[in-house]
Amino acid sequence: MSDHDFVSGSKPIGIERGEGPYLYSTDGTEYVDAGASFACTPLGHSHPAVVDAVQEQVGELTFVDSSFPVQSREDAYAAFVASTPDGLDQAWFCNSGTEANEAALKFARSATGESKIVAATRSFHGRTMGSLAATWKDAYKKPFEPLAGDVEFVPYGDAAELEAAVDDETAAVILEPIQGEGGINVPPAGYLETAREATDDVGAALVFDEVQTGMGRTGEMWACQNAGVTPDVLTTAKGLGNGLPVGAVAVRDWIADGAASHNATFSGGPVVSAAVHATVSTLVEEEWPAHAAEMGDYLTAELEAALGDEVREVRGDGLLVGIELKRGANRAARDLAMNHQVLALPAGRTVLRLLPPLVIEEADADRLVDALADTIAPEADAKS
Ligand SMILES: *Cc1c(COP(=O)(O)O)cnc(C)c1O
Repeated sequence: MSDHDFVSGSKPIGIERGEGPYLYSTDGTEYVDAGASFACTPLGHSHPAVVDAVQEQVGELTFVDSSFPVQSREDAYAAFVASTPDGLDQAWFCNSGTEANEAALKFARSATGESKIVAATRSFHGRTMGSLAATWKDAYKKPFEPLAGDVEFVPYGDAAELEAAVDDETAAVILEPIQGEGGINVPPAGYLETAREATDDVGAALVFDEVQTGMGRTGEMWACQNAGVTPDVLTTAKGLGNGLPVGAVAVRDWIADGAASHNATFSGGPVVSAAVHATVSTLVEEEWPAHAAEMGDYLTAELEAALGDEVREVRGDGLLVGIELKRGANRAARDLAMNHQVLALPAGRTVLRLLPPLVIEEADADRLVDALADTIAPEADAKS
């Protein structure tokens, strides 16, 4: 997330067009996009299946409200629900990740009749008042308080603390299966299972925020499938429309049946629905999650070999990769862009985050590794 909300377009590279994992600047330079699109283009930039579907739909029917059945919405809904784990059989579309989490918390509170939300340290769930209340970082929250109340934070990854916090007054536990913004933090094995058991014991809703981890990035369509844990509510956005603004909430029947009224004007609009249908069906039919797993293993192994002791850790899953540096991540990201035409993202002060489109090949991974080795290793040498 940019901290400069009013200075969009402040970077010194004008982007003109995108294709696959590449972005091209106005002067014709090719950049490898390992972060500039914030995991929003799993199929790569301007993927023809999505472009065609959107172009056709926008010309035929740009918008009608969601109380009227429209084929593209029905197709999107069916493809999305089929892609989620068994048990999540109903869904609601919205416009963004924060809105999906906002809805998840409202659904959970109304379906359980309770209000307490248990969230994790270093979480990121979005910037609207409700999702922000469940987000960890004070710098994002303090100036806007009071936010929605009754949120208790527990240390991410600590199963005992989580269990202790969940009680009869708990409406929901909200967790990212792997934390993105907070530094690509992978919880210990068994952590998500504990969250499942603790919420089951008291009848609270388990909410997984898969806004960043979803859409095949971790080798399964949804990261919770790697752990074999199905939540009551799964939220997503970012890559769902391969670049179009759309989010979704998938829920179990008891949540759908118990949730009070909630909606949004643009929910499931025909154009974003066409994008969702094209994106989800292409990812599933062409088995891009498996490719992400393979490329993720390759990239991680090559990074470890090339960077070795020059970094503290390479972690993540699939093509959600965090590199814990021994120096500031902001400057490393800038050096990568300016000297090596590689666009990566910081995730906190010292973690560099790679979120390339799932369609990268070994040659692209090699480019990332070479650029990183060149950027990070010489600096460390000079200091030692
Ligand atoms: C980006 C992100 C959000 C917020 O999504 P927006 O579309 O920016 O509102 C929420 N949760 C996670 C895990 C994210 O990565």
